Amino acid sequence: MARKLLLGNVHVEGINTYEVYRKHGGYSSVEKALKKMTPDEVVEEVKKSGLRGRGGAGFPTGLKWSFLAKPEGVPRYLVCNADESEPGTFKDRYLMEKIPHLLIEGMITASYALGANTSFIYIRGEYSWILFILEKAIAEAYDKGWLGKNIKGSGYDLDLYVNIGAGAYICGEETALLESLEGKRGNPRIKPPFPAVKGLWQCPTVVNNVETIAAVVPIVNDGGDEYAKIGIDKSTGTKLISASGNIRHPGVYEIELGMTVENFLYSDQWCGGMKNGKKLKALVPGGSSVPILPHYLVTKTAKGDQRLMTYESLADGGFESGSMLGSGGFIVYDEDQCIVRNTWNFSRFYAHESCGQCSPCREGTSWMEKVLHRLENGQGKMSDIDLLADVAKKIEGNTICPLGDAAAWPVSAAIRHFRDEFEWHVKDPQGCMQRNYGLAHVPIENQLINA
Ligand code: SF4
Repeated sequence: MARKLLLGNVHVEGINTYEVYRKHGGYSSVEKALKKMTPDEVVEEVKKSGLRGRGGAGFPTGLKWSFLAKPEGVPRYLVCNADESEPGTFKDRYLMEKIPHLLIEGMITASYALGANTSFIYIRGEYSWILFILEKAIAEAYDKGWLGKNIKGSGYDLDLYVNIGAGAYICGEETALLESLEGKRGNPRIKPPFPAVKGLWQCPTVVNNVETIAAVVPIVNDGGDEYAKIGIDKSTGTKLISASGNIRHPGVYEIELGMTVENFLYSDQWCGGMKNGKKLKALVPGGSSVPILPHYLVTKTAKGDQRLMTYESLADGGFESGSMLGSGGFIVYDEDQCIVRNTWNFSRFYAHESCGQCSPCREGTSWMEKVLHRLENGQGKMSDIDLLADVAKKIEGNTICPLGDAAAWPVSAAIRHFRDEFEWHVKDPQGCMQRNYGLAHVPIENQLINA
């Protein structure tokens, strides 16, 4: 039976309320940290756990915390990135909606570890109903003495605020988020300096994702070593996966890192296999910004090894034949799905969300969207395919923030693995129209030519 460290109690009635959450062991990590541990000891446990940022980048959390500058007389901040906007990713929404106190408990324990006395949760504008859920839970936590002055007689003070964004994907980038939190337009900053040195109002700041902060609770309760026993390699602990697309059981799952992709995709306990008996065509394993995998690279790597749900295994083969765990947005495509249309859809999103600061991203995302649009609508030329690949290549690594890469990678990977489908759109524009009736352009057997 898979262990569930975050969602174990998600189906307990009333778990969103303080009383029920507390009855099921809630706030014990705060009690333990404040009574028995120094802030440095909490940081040490997080380091030992091997926890990596669950927002997409996968940077080791304990290491990130240890970079936090501590100049005398300067406040430090913890900011929770709840600006979950990556298409295909909806796991933080589920966690905040169902167990809001888990996030608040994690915020208190993590703030104590970092020496922050004021902390923020920055939530995306489209999650406005969760704002009220969090505010209610925060009010309960204040009322019960878990927030405010001298928490439970420990001498530690913490104020926690929720701030709502205005619906910009780019505010999920940590420095854009900080700009927005300061009341400015959410434009990413040039790094360095990194937020750990100059973050919110130029003060040392740690920005962590919702799931990352929630994971601090079981790590402090059970110890970093226990957490690290789950998973393999540098992929430790559990991970929330939001599974969607043409599968029988879409939803949010908490998995132990290290299980096989095959088990996750086909087992009845998880995704339940393909819907309506269709064949698997492709998988985007980590949210819209990661490279798409064709069906023959989903359950096995190019070397023939079992593909695992880990940072390392999903990336095996680099961008030639691998992808990324990313934010855990697991999007499954069946044989009827049109890859060109899907790529255009993602491109439209990134062109719309580009903040426009740097030319490769501002111009490149718009051009990719235009070219994909004409290919998808049967007006493309064969040379458009190389043009698209070239524009994507020129964006990659040449922008201020990762949105440029996020926009380029899906395009490059789609052309790399599904070039014949792009060509089909040029050769048979009428065939493109069939897409409107749910028909794929290239029979799945023919796609094996790329294998
Ligand atoms: Fe803005 Fe795009 Fe440049 Fe990021 S990469 S700073 S979103 S223009």
